[in-house]
Amino acid sequence: MAASLSLSDVKALAPEVPIHPMLHDEVEDVASLLAEYAADDSDETRQLVARIAASSMGPNHLWEDLGLPSRAALGDLMQRHFPALKARNHRQMRWKKFIYRELCERASVPVCRSPHCDACDEQHICFAPED
Ligand code: SF4
Repeated sequence: MAASLSLSDVKALAPEVPIHPMLHDEVEDVASLLAEYAADDSDETRQLVARIAASSMGPNHLWEDLGLPSRAALGDLMQRHFPALKARNHRQMRWKKFIYRELCERASVPVCRSPHCDACDEQHICFAPED
């Protein structure tokens, strides 16, 4: 587990990713979640926490906003640096969706119309194979 990152940490570690002021609280929430599940407290992992948290606010799929070549590459990265979080996402939900669903469940704020994915007609949007 890495020490949680503040917004200023995120901005310092990922200066290339612009963050809209309205999303500052969300960035910190995502950074806290990622730090909690980080495999270690190395500089590389802390930088990844910052980049993923900031990029989570972007308009595209997370792997695209991170500049990775594929969704599979993001899966590999998550396995290396956030293995416990990767294990929680064993059904291969799209990462932005998964992260927000985790945060919303913690806050007891329902984010989905259906309480269970198995009973939901939006599975084709939320899930995608990693290979
Ligand atoms: S499949 Fe439905 S219930 Fe599951 S995360 Fe997507 S919208 Fe929510």
